[in-house]
Amino acid sequence: MKYRTFLLFGAPGSGKGTQGKILGTIPNLFHCACGDVFRNLTIDSEIGRIFLDYSSKGQLVPDEPTIRLWRENIHAQTKLGRFNPELDTLILDGIPRNPHQAEMLKDTLDVKAVFYLSCTDMSKLVERLQRRALRENRLDDANLEVIRQRLETYERETKPVLEFYGKELVHQIDSTQTPVNVLLDILRVIAAV
Ligand code: ADP
Repeated sequence: MKYRTFLLFGAPGSGKGTQGKILGTIPNLFHCACGDVFRNLTIDSEIGRIFLDYSSKGQLVPDEPTIRLWRENIHAQTKLGRFNPELDTLILDGIPRNPHQAEMLKDTLDVKAVFYLSCTDMSKLVERLQRRALRENRLDDANLEVIRQRLETYERETKPVLEFYGKELVHQIDSTQTPVNVLLDILRVIAAV
C-alpha cells in the first residue's frame, strides 16, 4: 500500500516549513519535514554525526541513510498512532531531495500533487534564512557561505525532481506572496484533488 502524498517543494527559505506546519493542523493531513527528523537526532548516534557533517557544509546527507531514517520515522509515527496511512495524507517537506531519492520512494509514495514554492529573488531567500537562524537557533542558517552552498545544492541536485514528477503533478506557487495567500493557492489544489 502506498502513502497518499502531497509534496512541498522549493528552495531553502521558500516557506515549505511554514506551510507544512499549518497544513499539518488540518485533520487527516500529516506533516513530515525531513530536516526536522534529522534535527531531532542526538549527535552521539552515527546518523546524527553524518547529518551534522553534511548539513554544516550545505550538502545533502547521502541517500541510503536518509531514506532508511525517513522510513523508520514514518513507521514509528504510525505505531504511535499519530499517522494513519489508511486515512491520512502525507504532507512531505524536504524529501525527496534529488531524483534518486524520488526513485527510491516510487513504490512507497502515491504523489497526488507537488507544490512548487517558487522564488526568483535569491536575496529574499537569504534574508528569510538569516532571520530564521536567530529565531530557531539553526547553525546552517547562520553562515552566509553555508546558505550559498545550500542554494547551489538545491539548484543542482533538487530542482531536477520537478522533472521526475512531470508537469501534470507540479503546481507552481509564487512564494513571495504573504503566507496566507500561499496557503490559499495550496488549499485550492488540495480541495480539488
Ligand atoms: P532547508 O530546506 O531550509 O535547507 P531542511 O531542514 O529541509 O532545510 O534541511 C536541512 C539540511 O538537512 C539540508 O541542508 C540537508 O543537509 C539535510 N537534509 C534534509 N532533508 C534531506 C534529504 N531528503 N536528503 C538529504 N539531506 C537532507
